[in-house]
Amino acid sequence: MGTIAVVTEQPLDAPILGRPGEACGVFGIIGQDIEAARLTYFGLFALQHRGQESAGIAVSDGENLTVYKDLGLVAQVFDERTLGGLPGSLSIGHTRYSTTGSNSWENSQPTFRHIDTNGIALAHNGNLTNTASLASHDDPMAATTDSELMTEAIATAMSIDSLSLADALARVLPTFDGAFSLAVMDRTTLVGVRDPHGFRPLCLGKLDRSWIVASETAALDILGAGFVRQIAPGEMVVIDANGPVSLFPFEEASSNLCLFEFVYFARPDSTLLGATIHNTRQRMGRLLATQAPVDADITVPVPESGIPAAQGFAAVSGIPYMDGLVKNRYVGRTFIEPAQALRERGVRMKLNAMPGVIGGKRVVLVDDSIVRGSTTRQLVSMVREAGATEVHLRISSPPYKWPCFYGMDTGDRSTLLAADRSVEEIAKHLEVDSLVYLELENLIEATGAEADAFCTACLSGKYPTDVPTIDSKFLLERTP
Ligand code: SF4
Repeated sequence: MGTIAVVTEQPLDAPILGRPGEACGVFGIIGQDIEAARLTYFGLFALQHRGQESAGIAVSDGENLTVYKDLGLVAQVFDERTLGGLPGSLSIGHTRYSTTGSNSWENSQPTFRHIDTNGIALAHNGNLTNTASLASHDDPMAATTDSELMTEAIATAMSIDSLSLADALARVLPTFDGAFSLAVMDRTTLVGVRDPHGFRPLCLGKLDRSWIVASETAALDILGAGFVRQIAPGEMVVIDANGPVSLFPFEEASSNLCLFEFVYFARPDSTLLGATIHNTRQRMGRLLATQAPVDADITVPVPESGIPAAQGFAAVSGIPYMDGLVKNRYVGRTFIEPAQALRERGVRMKLNAMPGVIGGKRVVLVDDSIVRGSTTRQLVSMVREAGATEVHLRISSPPYKWPCFYGMDTGDRSTLLAADRSVEEIAKHLEVDSLVYLELENLIEATGAEADAFCTACLSGKYPTDVPTIDSKFLLERTP
C-alpha cells in the first residue's frame, strides 16, 4: 500500500529585494535503479533562479510516495540526510516563487494527495486565470493556491472515477485556463504537460535510460543529460517503464511562449527556440545599439541580467564594455532583511559602483528591463555618485506596462513604472540624461521567431486569453 510521508523543518525568512518575481522551476525524472531524488536535487539547483522562496522533492520507490519540502533555497532545504531518506527511481521537484498564495510552507510544492493505494504529487510553473470560477466549486479549506486546486481536481478524478493519472489529467486539465507547465507523478508514472498556449517552457531530456522533464535545458546540462526536444504547447508526455507516449488532450490554441523568458527569466545558458538565451540577449543589445546610438565613453552592464545585452551594445556601438558595477552574488531572496537604516541603502546591498571605472566618464548603462523602477533609480544615483558625468540608460526590452497573469508576479498596474508614463517622464523620474527601450519588433527579431509565437501582453497589452478582473495573488486565502 502506498503512503505519503511529509517531513518539515523550521521555515526560513524570505524577504524580497528589488526584482519582479520569477516564474517557478519544475523538474521530473523517471528511470530504473537510479537515485531520482538526488538527480532532482541537482536539476532544481540549476533552476534555482526561477524561484527562491521554497523547494521540494517528491519521490516514489514504486510502493511509497514521499514528499519533502520547505521554505528556502534548494541547498538550504536538502542535505545528505534528507536526500538519503528519499529512495526511489521516480521523482519530481519544484522551486517556488509565490505568484498565487503567500510564501508559506503549506503553499510550497510539490503539492500532493493520498488516493487509496496510490498518491499523486504535482509541480506547477505558471498561473491559472480561471481560479475564481474553479474555486467556487471546491472546498476552500483544501487549497490556497491554483496548484492545490489542480491537484485536488486530479486526485478527485482518480479517486472517485478510478482513472489512471494520465486519464485524470486528460479529463481535468482542459477545464483550466491560463499558464501551466507541470511535472506530475503517481507511484509509477511521470507526466510532463504544457498548457495549450505554452506560456511557460518545458523540455524533454534523456540521461542513459532515464527520461527527464524540466523547465529549462540548463537542468539537463547539470546532469550531463541530452536535450531531446521542447514539449509542445498542449502536449502531455506520459512516461512509465515502457518509455514516453505523447497525448494532446486540449483544443488547439495559439502558441504564446512568454517573451520575457528571453529577456529575463531563463538562464543565459539555456536554449529556447533553438538558440542559446545568452546569444539572443546579445542580439537584443546589438539591435538596441543600432536603434539608439549615443555619444558616450563606456558601456556598463547592470549585472548580471544586463551583461549579454551590454556586450552586444558595445560590439555594435564601438563604446568599450567595462564592468563598472560589482554584484554581491550571495544576496538572494533569503537574504536577511536589513535594519531600516541599512535598507535605505537599498540597491547597495546588491550592487556597488566602482569610481575607478566610472569616474569622469559618460556612461551607457544597459539593463534588461524596468518593472517597478525603484532599483533603477537608486542605481542611477549610485553611478552618478561614483563620478559619471552623464548616464544614458538603454533597456533591452520595451516598457513594461501591463500586469502578467501567467506566472510573473509584478503586482497590479499601479506598481508598474511605465504603466501611465511616457518615456520622457520615466527618464526624468530616473534622472538619466537619455533613456531608450528596445522596440518590440527588435526584441522579437532577436529571438529569430515570428511575432505570433509569443505572449507579449505585459509589453503590448494584448492578452492571448481572457484574464481575470477580480483575481489576485491571495484569492484563495481566507482572511482571519
Ligand atoms: S504577460 Fe509578459 S511576463 Fe507574462 S507571460 Fe506574457 S510576456 Fe511573459
